[in-house]
Amino acid sequence: MAEKLQALKQQVCSSIDEAKDKLHRLGDAIWRLPELAYEERQAHDTLVRFFTQEKGWTVEAHYKLETAFRATWGPVGGADGESVVHVGFLCEYDALPAIGHACGHNLIAESGAAAAVGLKAALESGEAWPVPVKVTVLGTPAEEDGGGKVDLLREGAFEDLDVVFMAHPTQKNATYLPAVAVHSVLVKYRGRTAHASAYPWEGVNALDAAVMAYSNISVLRQQLRPEWRIHGIIKHGGVKPNIIPDYSELEYYLRTSSHLDLPNIRAKAEACFRAAAMATGCEVELLFQKNEFYEVLRNRTLEDLYEENGKALGMKFTTEGFSGSTDFGNVSHAVPGIHPYFYIGSEALNHTAEYTAASGADEAQLYTRRTAKALAMTALDVIFSPGVLDKVKQEFREAKRREERNCKSRNIENGDQHQP
Ligand SMILES: [Zn+2]
Ligand SMILES: [Zn+2]
Repeated sequence: MAEKLQALKQQVCSSIDEAKDKLHRLGDAIWRLPELAYEERQAHDTLVRFFTQEKGWTVEAHYKLETAFRATWGPVGGADGESVVHVGFLCEYDALPAIGHACGHNLIAESGAAAAVGLKAALESGEAWPVPVKVTVLGTPAEEDGGGKVDLLREGAFEDLDVVFMAHPTQKNATYLPAVAVHSVLVKYRGRTAHASAYPWEGVNALDAAVMAYSNISVLRQQLRPEWRIHGIIKHGGVKPNIIPDYSELEYYLRTSSHLDLPNIRAKAEACFRAAAMATGCEVELLFQKNEFYEVLRNRTLEDLYEENGKALGMKFTTEGFSGSTDFGNVSHAVPGIHPYFYIGSEALNHTAEYTAASGADEAQLYTRRTAKALAMTALDVIFSPGVLDKVKQEFREAKRREERNCKSRNIENGDQHQP
């Protein structure tokens, strides 16, 4: 079995290398036409066209969301009565305002497509394999803003998957970097205008409310757990010094290491915002984002396999570093999966113009293909190594239980009774 698995892994690599020109064209087409969250129409069409032209895939355009898609192959092979192993690869393809593909999501799409194509080719190359296999590629829009994966989860798009894989470009190879839970809120204060010198007592000052809210949150910060973060900006603070501002607006991100703590941090922040309204006599409106992002739930079994496969391909791994938040976090709580990071041949930082250039450079191609190979090889481990899938699933269940236990004990220790 070990030899057969090795031969299949080699087949993954040669199939991805054989497809390198069309994979490069795919990533490049997405990079050249950067589109914002939920507006990735050209990227959607490009990917749908790619899988329609590949043999054997059933492609659903506009799958549950305007710019999402699904391509499936199988179930194929396996012995009678064996249950299907369903492997998912995710493609992101949204860009950032003004600076294009500064997070390299074009390469996420390319590596996801490459891994799926490589895995299918390897499975088709050999003789019979032990279990029926189904491969799904999900095109998941709007990671940078909104959280398309959370929408798709709500619609049941991940329901019958056994494992999911994706990889994100950054400055290094890492099987995991901490990604925390986040929820954002828009705060609007409404007061009343008046001449600021002639009759200020007639006014209700919305800027004062915003400043007080900002100060309240800053004071709160000292009392938060060390790993929690609250950071915000004043987006609107009036139009002219001699007009008492009747409108102000702030936007805040609330982050915790577990999404189970988000209700707590939300309640604390909400008290700060409402107190400022009460003190100034303003009306306040709190608009929480539709989707909260969960932290990424680790699966060491999958991480270790990925690392082993990556090392065999010459990758060097680091455990140092931090990332922001991702909607893959929510996926990782529904289906066991990994979201490793990969080097693309540049030291540039994500979300900069330099990174946009790096993610479109020819040099990134080699690293993107290498990452796709490691993902597909890890999928082969899940399919062919006895007991691996059970171990992955057991670890997933235990990690979820552990998180709930930890959150409960933190809340008891804090005397925190806030409910969602
Ligand atoms: Zn980003
Ligand atoms: Zn990103």
